[in-house]
This record gives sequence, structure tokens and C-alpha cells, in this order.
Amino acid sequence: MKYMIFNDGCVKEHAMLNYLDKELMSLGYIEESDYHQADIIIYSTCAGLREAFENAGYNISFLAHIKKRTTKLIIVGCLTRNCNLEKLANLEANRRDIKIISDYNFGEAIKNYLLNENSQYTIKQQLEQKTTFKYHNDICLRLEMEDGCINHCTFCKYNYMKMPITSVPFHDTLEYLKERIQKGTKIINLGGENLALYGIDLYKKPVLHKFIQELSKVPGLEKINLLEITVSNMYPELLDEICHNPKVAKICIQLESASNKVLSLMKRNHTIEDFYYILKKLRDNGKFVTTILMSAFPEETYADLDYTANFVRENAVYVNQICQYVDFEYIASHNLKQFSSKEAAAHHRYLTNAIAKSNKEVLYNAMPMLEKAVIVGQNEKYTYLNNGSYTDGYSFTQKFQEYNPGEIIKATPKMIVKSTDTPYLYVYRY
Ligand code: SF4
Repeated sequence: MKYMIFNDGCVKEHAMLNYLDKELMSLGYIEESDYHQADIIIYSTCAGLREAFENAGYNISFLAHIKKRTTKLIIVGCLTRNCNLEKLANLEANRRDIKIISDYNFGEAIKNYLLNENSQYTIKQQLEQKTTFKYHNDICLRLEMEDGCINHCTFCKYNYMKMPITSVPFHDTLEYLKERIQKGTKIINLGGENLALYGIDLYKKPVLHKFIQELSKVPGLEKINLLEITVSNMYPELLDEICHNPKVAKICIQLESASNKVLSLMKRNHTIEDFYYILKKLRDNGKFVTTILMSAFPEETYADLDYTANFVRENAVYVNQICQYVDFEYIASHNLKQFSSKEAAAHHRYLTNAIAKSNKEVLYNAMPMLEKAVIVGQNEKYTYLNNGSYTDGYSFTQKFQEYNPGEIIKATPKMIVKSTDTPYLYVYRY
């Protein structure tokens, strides 16, 4: 049987599909790159705002029409739980050649469906499906510890998507990571949808601080990086642990905007002063702070953008990404006055340009000292960093080599990339 996998989802879908990919190969399935030839096509959707719905509708319709009549099209991921996909993709209902699987643990469900089984993954296998590796030698891994969010930011998919908080079990996860560390993992990135909430479903209170404390005691582990922390869910024990644990190196805290007016319209439940308080504590304790910004949020002014750019520049906060706001009728911020697409693009360009220079300086000055290894991307055009961001290749890798002679690993990262010649589909691996 020949199969293909397409992923429009995010890192958690990527991890699960990667695991499934290996399992299918070990069961004798053959990976196929031509969708006319595949017997099974697996497509993972995303529910992240309007563009994701449009992409999914287009991609499902495309795959349903281009595939062989006998090919099974299996659709999984966030949209399968929120939306009538047949209607979205303009397909007849209940087609026997299309199977929609809405399980959260869709890897297990796909395997059971293909093998006509009803087996369950062990906890270790479930954890393996939440793990992605940055390098071929497994030196650095990312583990999704938590999913779901209880906040109601006005621009977020959680306005229309119900996703309960689900955390990985504390002790099993610790044992799993210990094993990985014994096998050579040195850097662990802990991720989640809103990582500070880790544990509230299982233990009735957030326990990330305790997890970091226990994990950091494992001999052989060099660094812990924290992704997706929010100021409104930061709690004193967590801040204290991050500040004083020498193994915690990098923390990504979403800022979105430094303007209190915009933060309030976003319902972020914190002010820029709250953010600064945490930032200062982290910086005073030698931590490297990164963030994510948003541009073109409704009612934002150029003065708000200037304020944001100045804030990140003056405080040397590295910006991983600027997301341009996308309107959608199901999000709360839809009721605010929206920008035209031209105005929105201008706001995005303005903020991108305003932070470009300082962002590069922060990266070049701090990252080479923080990173032990980087990946030089295809054609040496990009350098991928442990936190998933990337920069232009040559100059950064030269700078990196000054601090880490001979440590660059040239490898092709297995990551989700948007194909340039088939812009309507994401390619799962290359
Ligand atoms: S904190 Fe993050 S995940 Fe939670 S609602 Fe806000 S943007 Fe969404």
C-alpha cells in the first residue's frame, strides 16, 4: 500500500504524523510522492481562523478530485471537530472513499482504522507522538506538554473552538524524558498551547514549576527552554523557578502589543507594566526572552506600533514572529472596526521594518552564546534555531562558529514547509 501525508496543522500534528509515518513504514506501507498513485492519503487540517478554513476546503476538494477512485482519503486534525468538512469542500456527504477521523489522538485512530484493530498506545508511545526532534542526533527535542486554553483573547481560535486543557502525566513524562536524556538529549523545549496552565486538568493546579525543578535535576540535561508562556497565567512559583533555575535558558512570552489600549481590546488580561515586571525579573536573572507580536489588530494606530517596536528594541526582546491579524466572523474582535487589506498590510510592513534591525542585533549578540548547535538549511540559505525560528544563513552561522567552533550540524530538518511549486498544499517532508 502506498501512502502520502499532508499536514496543514501545527507542531503537535507534525509530531503525531511523523510517528505514524514511521509506523506505517515499519508495517510495510510505502511512502508515495505522487497523489495520483497513492492508495491512502492522510490530510491534517488546521482550525486557525479564516485562512485555515479556506485552505482546508480547497485542499480537501483538490485531493478528493485528483486521487484515484479507490484511494482512501483520511481527514484528521482540528477542523474535523468544528466544521462540516463535506460542505466546506463542496463534496457529497458520506462518501465511502473519504474517512473523517475527529479523535484528538488521531495517529492511533488512523492506525486502528487501517488495520481494523482497536489497540491503544501506551503512555510512552503517546509521549513519543508529542515529541519532535530538531537534529538527527536527537540532541534537542520539543515536547508538547499541554493543549487547550481557558483564556478568551478576542483574536484567538478559542472563541469558536472548544479544546479542553489536556496535560501529559507528570511522573510518566519525567521518566520518559530521563530515558531520552540518558540516550543523549541535552536540550529540551517544553511547549503547549498555553504552557503555564500545565497540570490544571490532572492536578487541579498548575505544576509546571515543579516539573521544571524535577527535570532540571536529571544529570546530562543542559538546557530547558519554555515556549508559549502567557503573562496572565504566570504564577509566582513558576516565575521564581524560571528565574532561579540555572538550566532554564530561554522563555517565549507572547506580547502581541506593547500598547495598553490594544492589549485591552485583545482581552489579554495584563498590561505592558505587568509584562515588563516579569521581563525585568527574567532579564535580571540572565534569561533570554523571546516573544510573538501581532500587527494590524483592529483600531491599532501607528503610534501603537511605534510603542511596540520601541519596547522590544529598548528591552532587547527577540521577536520570533509577527503575525498579521486575520479577521473572522467567529472571533470576538470581528466586532471592532477592521482595516482594509491594504491598510493591514501597511501596518504589518511598518512593524516588520521597525523591529528588523534591533531584532537581528539581539539575535546575533545573544543566540550564539545560548545555542550549542544550529542547523544550516537547504542551500545554506537559512539557519534554524532550537526555538524553531530561523535567520539568514551565512552571516549567522559565521557568528555562531566564533563561539562554537566546529559544532554546526548540517542536516535537513524534517519540518513542515510550504512548497513553492504547489502553493495550495503543505508538503510534509522533503
Ligand atoms: S492565551 Fe494564547 S491560546 Fe489562550 S486564548 Fe489567548 S491567544 Fe489563544
